[in-house]
Amino acid sequence: MSTFLGQDQLKREQQRGLCAICAQSLPDKYVVLDRTEAMGGYTDANTRLICTGCDTTVQRNRGYA
Ligand SMILES: [Zn+2]
Repeated sequence: MSTFLGQDQLKREQQRGLCAICAQSLPDKYVVLDRTEAMGGYTDANTRLICTGCDTTVQRNRGYA
């Protein structure tokens, strides 16, 4: 979940409404604005929209969950 609503919508258009990882259609709610580089900021180049299922996988792979 994200409070960066404007950026979410921009990303949706860039990704044509698909998850950046699994390429499934993103739901209207509960999408995750993921930072490609954890130390980077929420810039356009460093973020991607992913579904909650992929977010769980990504977080686990990073050792956060
Ligand atoms: Zn996904």
